[in-house]
Amino acid sequence: MTAKTINTNLLDSLRRQREERVQPLAGKKGIVIGIANDQSIAWGCAQAFRGIGADLCMTYLNEKSKPYTEPLAKALDIPPSLYLPCDVREPGQLRAVFAEIEKEWGRLDFALHSIAFAPRDDLHGRVTDCSQEGFAMAMDISCHSFIRMAKYAEPLMTNGGALFTMSYFGAEKVVENYNLMGPVKAALEATARYLAAELGPKGIRVNPISPGPIQTRAASGIGRFDELMEHAAARAPSRALVTIEDVGMATAFLATDFAKLITGDTMYVDGGYHVVG
Ligand code: NAD
Repeated sequence: MTAKTINTNLLDSLRRQREERVQPLAGKKGIVIGIANDQSIAWGCAQAFRGIGADLCMTYLNEKSKPYTEPLAKALDIPPSLYLPCDVREPGQLRAVFAEIEKEWGRLDFALHSIAFAPRDDLHGRVTDCSQEGFAMAMDISCHSFIRMAKYAEPLMTNGGALFTMSYFGAEKVVENYNLMGPVKAALEATARYLAAELGPKGIRVNPISPGPIQTRAASGIGRFDELMEHAAARAPSRALVTIEDVGMATAFLATDFAKLITGDTMYVDGGYHVVG
């Protein structure tokens, strides 16, 4: 075979990008919802997105969360017009965020949903005993808000795009003390599959990401979380706990064209725990 007959399209394109020092997410616009502080999984993702070239919009929950999130927005070079309040329980706030993105950018390439909530009593009891109101609230904040996010993102993703949400292994198997969040995450993963099927023809990919346990504020609401972490560290093939940076880099990969035809699947970032756990 002569050199001329060899298909080197990918090699040529990657060489060109290297020579021109083009970062994989250069020119891409993304939104990150779910940064509470610098321990948040969404913060690991935001750093990775920005670090490989993306421009970001970032939301914060409310005034109380501003002291923790404002310095992070600055570190990401986010303009004040794209650092916005968003409590998904507040009517109109999520829609207003996407309206602002439309005004500023006129389009969007990726969106990360990294939020969850369940009322404490419901989260700490058996699924058998959880209240109707608690279940509905957990589903609304942790799952249906992802559907709403997809709906608002869809018209802005004119060149295709990618939607991500954070799940957990408790969606798939019963994990002690994960309780109500198990069914909620199962619904979230199934939702992502349906969204992937519906939006795929428009070039919009949808993937849940399933990190291993990480000590964050949300995680502190789960009973005996320390034991869960110890178990994961001992059992995972990697014998290592996952960091927010690990999740960030893997999620940033999914946002690039390297993952152009990966959709619908849950991507585990758990050191392989799910294959043995
Ligand atoms: P975190 O506390 O840093 O983030 C949770 C976020 O949810 C916060 O930013 C909070 O403001 C936001 N949130 C809660 N209610 C909201 C509402 N009404 N409107 C808007 N935002 C709201 O904790 P985290 O661990 O980074 O959690 C992020 C996601 O990762 C969650 O979906 C969580 O279930 C998932 N996850 C966490 C772990 C872990 O071990 N920490 C593992 C797997 C998946």
